[in-house]
Amino acid sequence: MIGAGINGAVAASAASAAGLRVLLVDKGDIANFTSQESSNLVWGGIKYLQGYEFGLVFKLCLARNHLMRNYPNQIRQIGFLASLGPTAPFGRLLGTFGTLFYWGIGLLGTKPPASYSAKTAKKLEPNLITGRAAIKYYDAELPDNDSRFVFDFVRHAIKQGADVRNYTELTAAKPGTNGWELELSGKDKTTVTATTVINTAGPFAKNVSELLQAPTNAGLVFSKGIHLVLNRKITELNQVLALWDEQERLFYVLPMGDRSMVGTTDTRVDDPHTKVTQADRDFVIKQVNAQLELEVPITPADVVAERSGVRPLVVDGGQSGDVADWHQLSRKHIVEANKALSVVTVLGGKLTDCLNVGKEIVQELTRLGHITKRPVNWFGEGSQLRQEDFSALVAARSDRDAAPRIAEGIWRRHGEAAFEIIGDSPLEEIVAGLGITEQEIRHIAEHELVHTREDLLRRRLPVKMARSDRELADNEKLQELLVDLGL
Ligand SMILES: Cc1cc2nc3c(=O)[nH]c(=O)nc-3n(C[C@H](O)[C@H](O)[C@H](O)COP(=O)(O)OP(=O)(O)OC[C@H]3O[C@@H](n4cnc5c(N)ncnc54)[C@H](O)[C@@H]3O)c2cc1C
Repeated sequence: MIGAGINGAVAASAASAAGLRVLLVDKGDIANFTSQESSNLVWGGIKYLQGYEFGLVFKLCLARNHLMRNYPNQIRQIGFLASLGPTAPFGRLLGTFGTLFYWGIGLLGTKPPASYSAKTAKKLEPNLITGRAAIKYYDAELPDNDSRFVFDFVRHAIKQGADVRNYTELTAAKPGTNGWELELSGKDKTTVTATTVINTAGPFAKNVSELLQAPTNAGLVFSKGIHLVLNRKITELNQVLALWDEQERLFYVLPMGDRSMVGTTDTRVDDPHTKVTQADRDFVIKQVNAQLELEVPITPADVVAERSGVRPLVVDGGQSGDVADWHQLSRKHIVEANKALSVVTVLGGKLTDCLNVGKEIVQELTRLGHITKRPVNWFGEGSQLRQEDFSALVAARSDRDAAPRIAEGIWRRHGEAAFEIIGDSPLEEIVAGLGITEQEIRHIAEHELVHTREDLLRRRLPVKMARSDRELADNEKLQELLVDLGL
């Protein structure tokens, strides 16, 4: 498997559970590209209803429900409070009907929606603009961020015998007598053979298919989206605020640890390597200030972290150069198999649809004659039976205020391994407010393919998203620990 974003990670987990010998490589860290830049939402895509993509919304809602059932801790149901100002494309009546329809199309898999008068909405969320009615619907979010969720599949894959190598790039490939001969460049250059190549290179899928000389029918175009993390929590309630910007596009105020993240944008780009520009920053800050009544408006000085990525969007082969209605492009994924060359390529998609991608890859591998048994237990959290015992143990060993955060966080990220991780020493938050302890950081650094500080603090843990570089540099205990870990 080439590329360890969400699609490569699910592919590795599903294929290894089906008994295949799997090698998953990524030229950077696990989830270093698109799969660390998302909005962290597991959702049915209510906004796609406006484009009449009922089939896609139904499929995504089922995918969301399936994930929510299997990840009771790592995926959290959350309310979206949508404020209906003049830039919202509908009023309260249509909005209420839309959320009821969304709830129905999602087979009532979440809490029911609600509709609020302007007065009640203001009472519920004082930051909303006075005089605007609101509607509420439910989807889900990834409290530990997208990249941690990806790592969970990688961990599953490793447990099932997969060989996972980050910082290892596929640089050349040729079909040999015993399948593919693949040249991998990392610390050293190696050649491996493989019967099948699964191309899960996300925005680079076309580059990898060129390298394999296995062209795909569908093409890809890129939509850039950015998020800004702010140094404060905008809404005190655990909810997402859904707002419409001046271009009538939906954007969100999302939770990020004990702070808020705002975004996203949707700009067509040709190069998948992107960063947040001053214009992006100004645009997002202007929209938040315009759509909320904040006591103290947001300024660029409030930004502690930024994210920028591209959505790889699927288009018909001949269409890539010229897409008439950019914002209407579908967010569906395609799994294409080239039987003659034994290459399977994943194009497009969403984190939310990851289990379907895994299943479809298994189907293709079955058609190619490589899989004879159905994969079992290739996703989901383990047993929850000992969670209460773990919380009690943490409570006895840590500060009363921090204990719930520590207990919840370590259990959510590690399940039953949490007992071993905390050992028997006292527990203290090493980054106050985030529920992360020295013991957990040591465990991750030693067991989770960590090579750099960024791997540890940005992707395995959301520390670098919820704290600025300055705040982290000033945290002496953390800095000493990182040096001690050789990072
Ligand atoms: C702004 C934004 C917001 C989004 N929000 C959501 C959301 O809230 N919910 C949702 O469900 N989806 C969301 N998405 C979509 C989702 O993030 C993506 O669909 C998904 O992460 C794509 O994963 P991937 O595995 O295909 O690609 P990637 O994560 O990009 O992984 C591809 C990997 O391939 C590697 N690679 C490339 N070439 C090689 C090579 N030659 N050798 C080795 N490795 C290679 C790269 O290093 C990379 O890690 C969002 C996307 C964006 C950009």
